Amino acid sequence: MMTGQPIYILKEGTERTQGKDAQRNNIFAAKTLAEAVRSALGPRGMDKMLIDQFGDVTITNDGATILKEIDVVHPGAKFIIELAKTQDQEVGDGTTSVVVLAGELLKRSEELLDQDIHASVIVDGFRVAREKALEALEKIAIKVTPDDVETLKKVAMTSMSSKLVSGDKEFIANLLVDAVRTISEEVDGKYVADIDKIKVEKKQGGSISDTVLIQGVVLDKEVVHDGMPRKVKDAKILLINEALEITKTEFDAKLNISSPEQMQAYLDQEQSMLKEMADKIINSGANVVFAQKGIDDVVQHYLAKAGVLAVRRVKKSDMEALSRATGGKIVSSLKDLDASMLGEAELVEERIISDDKMVFIEGCKDPKSVTLLVRGGTELIVDEAERAFHDALSVIRNVIEDGKVVVGGGSPELYLSNVLEDYSKELPSKTQLAVKAFSEALKIIPKTLAENGGLDPIEVIGDLNKAWKENKYTYGVDPIEGKVRDMKEIGVLEPLRVKKQMIDSAAEAAQMILRIDDVIAAKNLGGDQGEGGGAGGEDFGGDDF
Ligand code: ADP
Ligand code: MG
Repeated sequence: MMTGQPIYILKEGTERTQGKDAQRNNIFAAKTLAEAVRSALGPRGMDKMLIDQFGDVTITNDGATILKEIDVVHPGAKFIIELAKTQDQEVGDGTTSVVVLAGELLKRSEELLDQDIHASVIVDGFRVAREKALEALEKIAIKVTPDDVETLKKVAMTSMSSKLVSGDKEFIANLLVDAVRTISEEVDGKYVADIDKIKVEKKQGGSISDTVLIQGVVLDKEVVHDGMPRKVKDAKILLINEALEITKTEFDAKLNISSPEQMQAYLDQEQSMLKEMADKIINSGANVVFAQKGIDDVVQHYLAKAGVLAVRRVKKSDMEALSRATGGKIVSSLKDLDASMLGEAELVEERIISDDKMVFIEGCKDPKSVTLLVRGGTELIVDEAERAFHDALSVIRNVIEDGKVVVGGGSPELYLSNVLEDYSKELPSKTQLAVKAFSEALKIIPKTLAENGGLDPIEVIGDLNKAWKENKYTYGVDPIEGKVRDMKEIGVLEPLRVKKQMIDSAAEAAQMILRIDDVIAAKNLGGDQGEGGGAGGEDFGGDDF
């Protein structure tokens, strides 16, 4: 049957890299990204300025943000970006660290591959090391109760210390701890802090220290009509997602006007329908209306006449926040409206915040509703502040929920490195090498903190090991003062959850990349618009095979 014809299995143009080349390419990509974010790590880390294809500028120190903005095509690099995203979603902090550690684990693996140690042996060793490290980490955790406000503040400040907002970190930490404690609750003996309940509203202007926590909801909106009150006490609030207008289609299906009288009749009818809408609202007892859609001028006029304050085109997510806060139902048709559906708040007021109007809803039925109004001189600052606050809110949540912290400053990583070094001695020779590589890789965190602080990394590791010989286990690198010192004393604390996730995911990512020995990339059909080769596993659709 053989005819000498070539047999095509993969589509023409498909790129295939196999064996060591595939591995090396992926490792190279991961190392490159780790190198790119390394200088951002820690309180002396530098910021990055990123410019996207439209010329929009972002200034950030946040690992996940840096990586999200970099446009990569390499599948190995995409994988590392996913790693940072996962860290961000799961625990909210430690995104730079996880990428730096994954890069270092792969760099060390490469050295083993060079010595002809098979990838699967390294993968096994890493699995053993990862388990051991996680177990040891648990042992050095310090317990914290959810009402230990001082410790929660320290954790928040540690998270913000590497960010642009660090100058105001103490003030902000107070607000954020307050916010998370407000929304956290005990459910079946466990603490739960759903930080999505904290509404974050940004308003450029002022400075970061003008950021405030409002007990209630803030909308970046204004009162719709000049004749309406700017302030309503004892508010009875209607939340409506139906348009308070006459939508054209209701009428124009068979509109056939042939005389001025008919025109007038039509207009009169429209007027009376709109007035009816306003009357229904007024009769329900509502004195405040938040509408998700538009409000016709005529409806506005009648509402204003009755002293009702109204706001239109409120975002859906804000409508939901208002519903939670005020206890009001989101009404989808005025037909069904009755007084029991209205929400309540002590005060609804429009205020001017740096030349812009915003609407504040305070004294809500649900005292757990809070809004963080983030301020800052420029849009770039407000945006980076928001990212820093997200990290800080996350770490506070982690500690309230888990009740455990570890010290920072590279201390736990070096501790785990030593634990693994000792442990490796008990293992068979090849696994031993892999566990040792893992142990060496962990040192990258204290080393990088030291380097970014202008210190000699080797010297710092030496000083830390010396401190530990004297049982000073909470010593770490202080890149600001430029020395090794007690991290607990200076309040550098991090959630156990962040460290665990960082070690777990960095190890998992390294293992996964090491296992790949074949990259099959479909031909790139698009111009420069496309997503690139699309070599992710899922892209191998059935049709081609
Ligand atoms: P990541 O994105 O990984 O959170 P960061 O830039 O926030 O990166 O840096 C986190 C690292 O900096 C952690 O290892 C943390 O312990 C350390 N760190 C933060 N503040 C201090 C400090 N004041 N002194 C020493 N180390 C610190
Ligand atoms: Mg951080």
